Formats: sequence, C-alpha cells, structure tokens
Amino acid sequence: MSQPLHVIVVEDDPDLREELVIGLGALGFDCIGVADAPTLYRQLVLRRPDMILLDVGLPGEDGFSVAAHLRMTPGIGVVMLTARGALEDRVRGLDGGADAYLVKPVALEELASTLRSLARRLGPRLEEELASAWKLEAGGWVLREPGGRTVVLTATERTLVERLLSTPDRVVSRDELMASLTDKGQDYDPHRLDVLLSRLRRKLADAGFESPIQVVRGIGYLFKNA
Ligand code: CA
Repeated sequence: MSQPLHVIVVEDDPDLREELVIGLGALGFDCIGVADAPTLYRQLVLRRPDMILLDVGLPGEDGFSVAAHLRMTPGIGVVMLTARGALEDRVRGLDGGADAYLVKPVALEELASTLRSLARRLGPRLEEELASAWKLEAGGWVLREPGGRTVVLTATERTLVERLLSTPDRVVSRDELMASLTDKGQDYDPHRLDVLLSRLRRKLADAGFESPIQVVRGIGYLFKNA
C-alpha cells in the first residue's frame, strides 16, 4: 500500500511552521514540523522523510549547513524555503545540496507542486504513490483521491467502490452492483442501492471531492478515474 509523501518542515517561526504543516497536510502530504537542526536530526533517526522543507535562517545551525549534511543522505529531497532571495543565496543553496530554492512568501499550491515535481524525480517508488488516479488502500477501507486526500468507507461503500473501480470509466449496471452486495440467491432492493450510492456521492462531495461516481440514467453507475 502506498503512503503519502512524508515531509519534515524545518522552520523556527511557530506560526509559519504550523501554517505549512496544516496546509501541506490538507493537500495530502504527511507532514511534521521541527524548529531547529538538532530536532531535525533526531527525527531523521526515528523516521526517514521523503523530503525536507528547509528554512535558512534558523537558530544555531543554519539551513545551508543542514543542507550540506543532508547531502550525505541520498534520496531525501531538500527544498529551501527562505526570505533570502538574493542571487548569491540561491546559488549557495542549490550548489550546497538543495534540490529547489523557493523565496517566501510562496503560495501553498506552488510549494506542493514543487514537492510533487521533486518526488517524481526521486524514484519510481515515489512516482507510483503520486499516480494520478483514485485508489483503494488499507484493505479497501480507505479511498484515496489523486491529490492524496482520503475518505474512510463503510463495508457496503467499500464493496460498491471496489466493484466500480475494478472497471474504471465503464458503466456498471445496477444489477451487477446489486449482485456484488447480495448474498447468493437473495434479492436486493434497487431503491436501497440508489440510496446507498447517493449517500456515498454526497459523502465524497462533503469531503470536498469532485465525485468520481457518475449516474448513467436507466443503466447504472460509472467511476471516472482519469
Ligand atoms: Ca527563520
């Protein structure tokens, strides 16, 4: 099962750190924040991140020095995010081990794009996780949208989504869906199926997703997974 990208935010400003951790979390990253280099190094021992978002102006050891140390740990992406926009700082950052150099303030979306773009270059494992498709995880109990956000499903929803997602972009008839929900020989109330599906579509909409499940009138349903 694929995991969301694990990002450590190194930022000494508590407000900005919180904003970044919460904002990137909402965009599907698995994010934690630390305030300085020693805390980062302790974290690295506990759990290796996919990427580090690194402030330059830190108390004690600064971001340039941290980036130089991180060069010895290949495979971890380093994105510098700093107020220092001078050319010499950018060059120093990029030459010193950063994979990308962003100047504050930066829009969260651009930051997320930079992290994803970097992840694509970091290896096939990461690339697979970023595939732009809906997928079921955790034994089918969690539905993940292309952006990385998730919704937990009930047993019935899981059965329906599994069936629909097994033939993406193709209409599954109501009879087929009912068959997937029914024990052998037992009839299923078609009205109940419609209620279930409209509830599921509403649940996805409430979670902020553009629902991938479409109604094809008189025939059935399809799961759009482009
Ligand atoms: Ca700072």
